[in-house]
Amino acid sequence: SEYLARAKALNGELNAFITLDEDKTLAEAKAADVMLAGSTAGPLTGVPIAQKDIFCQQGWKTTCGSKMLDNFVAPYDANVIELCRKAGLVSLGRTNMDEFAMGSSNENSFYGAVKNPWDKLAVPGGSSGGSAAAVAARLAPIATATDTGGSIRQPAAFCGVTGIKPTYGIVSRFGMIAFASSLDQGGPIGKSAEDCALLLNVMAGYDERDSTSLEHAKEDYSRDLNAPLAGLRIGLPKEYFAEGLASDVAAAVDAAISEYKKLGATIVEVSLPNTKLSIPAYYVIAPAEASSNLSRFDGVRYGHRAAEYSGLADMYEKSRAEGFGAEVKRRILTGTYVLSHGYYDAYYLQAQKIRRIIANDFQAAFEHCDLIAGPVAPTAAWNLGEKNADPTAMYLEDIYTLAVNLAGLPGMSLPAGFAANGRPVGLQLIGNYFSEAKMLNAAHQLQ
Ligand code: GLN
Repeated sequence: SEYLARAKALNGELNAFITLDEDKTLAEAKAADVMLAGSTAGPLTGVPIAQKDIFCQQGWKTTCGSKMLDNFVAPYDANVIELCRKAGLVSLGRTNMDEFAMGSSNENSFYGAVKNPWDKLAVPGGSSGGSAAAVAARLAPIATATDTGGSIRQPAAFCGVTGIKPTYGIVSRFGMIAFASSLDQGGPIGKSAEDCALLLNVMAGYDERDSTSLEHAKEDYSRDLNAPLAGLRIGLPKEYFAEGLASDVAAAVDAAISEYKKLGATIVEVSLPNTKLSIPAYYVIAPAEASSNLSRFDGVRYGHRAAEYSGLADMYEKSRAEGFGAEVKRRILTGTYVLSHGYYDAYYLQAQKIRRIIANDFQAAFEHCDLIAGPVAPTAAWNLGEKNADPTAMYLEDIYTLAVNLAGLPGMSLPAGFAANGRPVGLQLIGNYFSEAKMLNAAHQLQ
């Protein structure tokens, strides 16, 4: 009740939630009470959670930030939602996001931008800006989110909270509305690494309904939180500290690295030589996959349908023209272009080759270190409206986050202080496959 009251009171100014539904939340709370009275309760039973509006949740409006799904009430639960229910977590509402998770500032939402709770002139980051802002403003203790190219880590950094994007395949994509299926991965956002570990324990697990779900043994991601860091080798990629990184962000990241030295870690320089290529490769592959995934929104079975049309083709065209926003249309156009006959080899195939090279670069770096550390984004949160008119300027902000998704690696963001303008700065940790527990350990030791 306390969280609901706070969410209701503050959502008007922050716009972190697209949907709040008190009756549904209280019904889930009652179910949690029953669990607490019986023998099925777990560590998070009764804890309220904000759900990103990308996860289908039975009976709840599930919009993915789009006009296309403004009338869509999900008839089934995503695997992540199902697992949250089983754990007795209580859904507070559905968080705002960039339309179909495409964006880095949350300004692409059909429901309007989210405001950064630290400074309401600033963007919260994206696409999981609603989840990050809700946790930062204490409208929710914890939230679900997704990360295709940084959408957990960058909003967590901009809002001064913690988030982890797990190894690709750890969290089921069943019922998670697809953007770029080979990159999409769900994960938690919380106040701390410890909270993220507890929620990841709930979210992770093999699911046969997701063909890329990994048959990986269940882990307790909180098991190493208190392990000492002595001997840990942290690699700093020289390309992440080069031109383009704002000096105040660099200072905050350096200060965090100094703390790691004090805790006994060894710092080594590593190289990720193809970092710059991650932007063109990602912005070919992600739109290509999106253009295919979004073909399902045709106005026939569900979603927006134009009121007036003449014939089937006209119905498709009008429904899609009205239902999708500008950035989504840009991605569909780019994606169909790079997949089309005559361009596939020149763009899509080249991008896939770069993807492999980038994955190999990380493996070479991990021969010299256990974890990689660096900035999450080149700057702290920018002002609302500042980069809206220039999509390429917005894409360039993703320079430090995209490679992790291309390689399928786990990455996280934790608070690392503040920029000169008082806005939060995040530290990014990147691990090799399945090193979530080690990353959460390193994050927890700094908190
Ligand atoms: N900013 C990136 C994009 O717009 C990543 C978004 C995401 O991770 N969902 O595609």
